[in-house]
Amino acid sequence: MRTHVEVDPRIGLRSFEAIRRLKADYRWAIDLEICVFPQEGLLNDPGTEELLVAACKAGADLIGGCPYTDIKPHEQIVRIFAIAKQFDLDVDFHLDFDLDPSWMHLDEVCRQATAHRWGGRVAIGHVTKLSAIDHESLDAIGRRLADAGVAVTVLPATDLFLMGRGHDHSIPRGVAPAHKLLHHGVTCSLATNNVLNPFTPFGDCSLIRMANLYANIARLGRMNELDACLDMVTTLPAKLMNLTNYGLAVGNAADIVALDCKDGHSAVAELARPLFAMKDGRKTVSHAPPVLHRPGSDRAY
Ligand SMILES: [Zn+2]
Repeated sequence: MRTHVEVDPRIGLRSFEAIRRLKADYRWAIDLEICVFPQEGLLNDPGTEELLVAACKAGADLIGGCPYTDIKPHEQIVRIFAIAKQFDLDVDFHLDFDLDPSWMHLDEVCRQATAHRWGGRVAIGHVTKLSAIDHESLDAIGRRLADAGVAVTVLPATDLFLMGRGHDHSIPRGVAPAHKLLHHGVTCSLATNNVLNPFTPFGDCSLIRMANLYANIARLGRMNELDACLDMVTTLPAKLMNLTNYGLAVGNAADIVALDCKDGHSAVAELARPLFAMKDGRKTVSHAPPVLHRPGSDRAY
């Protein structure tokens, strides 16, 4: 799991330290990747860059950005790439988080990824503007993202909850069409942004739920489309994170989530429940399957 952690002069490194401790305490169950990022802007918030650098020195796994909150978004993108290069870290931005397609920060991210030869190490999240453009524009952007090696993460619950607030009817869904970008070779994933906070007051952190929600929003009902949704919460995010031993294969770590279903598309269509998970061959969590209490077959407890 990759998680974004806010760093700025008000919160300091407190969140980073807390999540770092969580990462160590739960290493037996999950590999946590900490992405430090300036939620409130970088150029407009003196002291933030020093804190980001301190977090990178203290072991942050990668660095993110949030250019739409910055008074100088392009300079933020340039600075984040500079820090990433200094510490040899991957980059993961949240950006283009509205429905105005007249400008996009992803252009600058693609430029920087190409200039620094950072392709395959860069991801952008939300990118809801991509839901507000026509096919041809989307195709062109898909090709540019694929060429630059920039991956896309769609955050369906948050994007659906927050976009289109200016409309009182015929409300746009505001969720980027990740499945269309897959055809251009863009590495796309579906994930959660906020869970149970004012920006997304729902959720249980289930990625199967996100795959199902996305399929519903994007109206993907065929088996191969549902399989693609499963890929976007399994193999594709593994690729986005450059994991080397992901998947069921001889020699790979036995990191497994067993779902109660007969195949991949049923998992997405039926919101299959996890029965158990394993890390490195050791069971880490289990979830009892439901039991039917037919009349006459069980006692009153
Ligand atoms: Zn976000």
